[in-house]
Amino acid sequence: MATVEQIFEDYDAEIAQNVEKRQFESLDYYRYVKDKSGLNRGRLFLLDSSGTSVQREIPAFPHINRVYHLENGVQQFFGDSTFHVEEKLDGYNTRIFQHGGEIYATTKGGFICPFTTEWARLWGEIANLYKFYTDHPEWLICAEVAGHNPYNSQRDPDMPDGARLFIFDLMDDDGNYLDPEERYRVMERYDLPGVPTYGEYSMESLDDLMVLLQNMNQKEREGVVMKSSHKDQYLKFVTPRSDIKDIHDNIILHFDTHPFYFRNRLMRAILFLQEFELDKNEYAERIGRAFIDGLDELEDFDKVEEDYTIFVQNTNTWRKTRQLIRGEVDIETKNLEYASLHDREMIQVDFSRVFQKSTNRYQSILQGFPHTD
Ligand code: ATP
Repeated sequence: MATVEQIFEDYDAEIAQNVEKRQFESLDYYRYVKDKSGLNRGRLFLLDSSGTSVQREIPAFPHINRVYHLENGVQQFFGDSTFHVEEKLDGYNTRIFQHGGEIYATTKGGFICPFTTEWARLWGEIANLYKFYTDHPEWLICAEVAGHNPYNSQRDPDMPDGARLFIFDLMDDDGNYLDPEERYRVMERYDLPGVPTYGEYSMESLDDLMVLLQNMNQKEREGVVMKSSHKDQYLKFVTPRSDIKDIHDNIILHFDTHPFYFRNRLMRAILFLQEFELDKNEYAERIGRAFIDGLDELEDFDKVEEDYTIFVQNTNTWRKTRQLIRGEVDIETKNLEYASLHDREMIQVDFSRVFQKSTNRYQSILQGFPHTD
């Protein structure tokens, strides 16, 4: 087997130092593990069948800039140009590609995911991905997966059982993202499932965009991604009620969460309510309740865990998915039972992620052990 230096001999030395070797089924690949300008974490390098050189690269999905003040952000970013508005769905990011006649799906970090790949192959049949790949074998699909999934526990209860695919980008075989309108045309041609779209806006129709966002806020939808018509420029803007919901759901994971997680959400929510002139008393109550209710379970505390339900076709898919996510937290399988979805026999897996750091800290705090903070 070739060494990493031999495989990456034509690349910048920095790349060979920051890749991790992985295997999925019979596909050998490396994932880039660092975030550096020009090359984001999650890029994949697929090896040829001899395992000696890189045959194909799958680019990482780029970061999307965030604005905190809608009007000024739109003015700065789009000026007088029009832009498309799409819903920012709250699931997890995946990139789907076809290689050697098989479909694979990766997480944002560049792990080919057994769960998402199994579903992507099902979407091949029921959501026309195979039809699309017959004509565009080298294209990359970028999408959000929502519904029952192992990565994001904030499932929209109105969604039907199972995982759901929402495509928001297509990259052609030259490595260019399609402009929104071109993408909408291609998606319509193949009847591919996409994120909800809200049409074109500009500074002149900012009031309409604000009404759209207020409606999304009422429904606790996450927000929007604004996309320029002809350049790959994206901007995200989120609603305060989804930020406050995140605070409520995650404050109990406090010791396992990035320290800026809550601060950023608080600041975003407050700037939104200032710009949109929302009722400050109402939001003081909502923000306060999120912190207080989010910590309710400390009154009768056992451990910090998040419950998930997923549907897989094969117990092996669950075993491998579990291996993949176990790196970060402990996983407890709670229940396995047969289910029927999309006219197929599936297995419903109920499991929880147990957050050991927060569990240990709260346990010791509640037992009265002192801490230096
Ligand atoms: P970053 O953008 O810095 O990578 P992040 O990983 O924290 O940030 P988010 O803040 O959730 O991610 O926002 C970006 C993500 O939003 C995208 O990676 C994508 O998965 C998701 N997303 C949901 N809907 C859309 C959409 N319509 N267009 C583009 N991305 C979308």
